[in-house]
Amino acid sequence: MRPALAVASECAPLIKTGGLADVVGALPGALATQGWALRTLIPGYRGVLEQMKGTEQVWSDPMLFGGPARLLAARHGSLDLLVLDAPHLYDRAGSPYLDVGGRDWPDNDTRFAALCWTAAVIAAQGVEGWRPELLHLHDWQAGFTPVYLEQMGAAQPCVMTIHNIAFHGLTAADRLAALALPEAGFTTDGFEYYGHISALKAGLTWAARITTVSPTYARELTMPEFGMGLDGVIRARSDALVGILNGIDAEVWNPATDPHIHHYASPRGKRANKRALTASFGLPEGDGPLCVVISRLSQQKGLDMLLEALPTLIACGGRLALLGSGDRRLENAWLEAADTHAEVAVRIGYDEELAHRMFAGGDAVLVPSRFEPCGLTQLYGLRYGTVPVVALTGGLADTVITANDAGLRAGCATGISYAPLTGDALGHALRHLCELHDDTSTWARLQRNAMRHPVDWTASAPQYAALFDSISRRV
Ligand code: ADP
Repeated sequence: MRPALAVASECAPLIKTGGLADVVGALPGALATQGWALRTLIPGYRGVLEQMKGTEQVWSDPMLFGGPARLLAARHGSLDLLVLDAPHLYDRAGSPYLDVGGRDWPDNDTRFAALCWTAAVIAAQGVEGWRPELLHLHDWQAGFTPVYLEQMGAAQPCVMTIHNIAFHGLTAADRLAALALPEAGFTTDGFEYYGHISALKAGLTWAARITTVSPTYARELTMPEFGMGLDGVIRARSDALVGILNGIDAEVWNPATDPHIHHYASPRGKRANKRALTASFGLPEGDGPLCVVISRLSQQKGLDMLLEALPTLIACGGRLALLGSGDRRLENAWLEAADTHAEVAVRIGYDEELAHRMFAGGDAVLVPSRFEPCGLTQLYGLRYGTVPVVALTGGLADTVITANDAGLRAGCATGISYAPLTGDALGHALRHLCELHDDTSTWARLQRNAMRHPVDWTASAPQYAALFDSISRRV
């Protein structure tokens, strides 16, 4: 087995705010079958340290970016973790990125620079004789790692994975010295971004290879409409860029064994879950499809367009249960929609167990994102026979075979995708959903196809391994 170090700000099941955590948590298992042994470096947030058992200190620094820090090695399930315990950076209430009031932590640049610095130290010096042959960096929080690696004179290659290019990790130019970054790197060809320092741009520029989480998003990233101001950087590195589709942890997300639901192996078994879900959300019974949404409430996710399309769904006999949190205005708009329509029920919050029950009990999962690097909820939908209705963008386009005439005739459709990305087009898609749901045999076929569609790491893990093999040297 060849050693590699993954560097990330989240890792399921220990700490999760979105899909990044699921992927970071699942990749080590997937890559273990391909000859790569990953250790995963994550920050020692308060909630993470509380879950650690049997830790062993493997490194310490009396002054890491303003305070003492130590590195703890621990196993959690099948994960081999290195946890950076630095109380001045991570021991606080709130989320990994936001304080309890929902504002970015003012020292986020330092908090994640420290993570990158530690990754570089591990690679350059090794810990207790262990040294990675390659580093796998996830999103901007890991972006400075290859810059520090170069400063330390270490030669291991880095793979930078973009989970969402909307987040750049920007900080002010006068933070160069505080972040121990080289002045020479502060140029347009380096990590400067319109007068600021960008951690993501550092990663994109210094890494040996760049991956993103679906082939379509890899193409989209080169376009101004999706590149979020970094499309030029991506275009300049297009030779180094590859899109590898995310998979899901098919053990955690398995309707036949999921501890949170009534188990089932065929769509018929969803009925008990649907009854339970309808009751727990206080929704009326009905013949139309029970739709579910499990999502961050942010502009990206397009749930304002779903509000526009709600009357259409309701007029066709549909019902909707939504679980989400985020933007206060969207939260309020959805609470108001639930007050107005008996067919709509809303839970504001983050609830992993309820998410499982919703995938099991829903007939359809709606993902109307404006952009979506990969998207995991449509994959959970497929696995649970919960037909996905998705906007035709990013990984959503790569994972759902739409039920148009051709898809239905060929018998391969797994869901519904729509374009353009407007409330109107979504309304049409929802009407189509209700029609398909009324047609019992077509609907059963869709559900069966969905459940058979491969959504685990079988196809993608070898692609990561081949990429790792192609650039790594034994250390
Ligand atoms: P993103 O990472 O952009 O939020 P993804 O679809 O890639 O979107 O991943 C979202 C992940 O977070 C999924 O595992 C989804 O089930 C989960 N999730 C999102 N919101 C909630 C919530 N309110 N409660 C429970 N799980 C949620």
